[in-house]
Amino acid sequence: MALLGKCLCGKVRYQISEGLIDADHCHCSICRRHHGAAFATYGQFSDGDFSWLSGAELVKSYNTDSGAGWCFCSECGATLAGSEKGKVTSVTLASIVGDPGVKPASHIFVGSKACWYDICDDLIQHSHRAPIKSD
Ligand SMILES: [Zn+2]
Ligand SMILES: [Zn+2]
Repeated sequence: MALLGKCLCGKVRYQISEGLIDADHCHCSICRRHHGAAFATYGQFSDGDFSWLSGAELVKSYNTDSGAGWCFCSECGATLAGSEKGKVTSVTLASIVGDPGVKPASHIFVGSKACWYDICDDLIQHSHRAPIKSD
């Protein structure tokens, strides 16, 4: 079933046509700084399932030198998606409308997590990126 996502002001909306397949919490230093939070939570989808429904002209992106970046609404600043070399590769789980249908299964980049945050759940922890799934 298709999932909808939107920014805080509601002008930017997107769709994940077949829903999410996975989610994780990223503790890397760049995600933390971009979000201004202890960690960022992303949902993954199958290639080709993501599309902007409205407000695409308001979407700005910020890319790091490595090519990793984020797409956000230039009106309200809400971070909607993660990107790799300009292509949307994940969505922020908190921008999904309603139940995203998945729960985070792991913590990634725990090796660079904030010293002031303690992980208090039993989810798998990866010091860097999670192993790439081969399905
Ligand atoms: Zn907005
Ligand atoms: Zn990260």
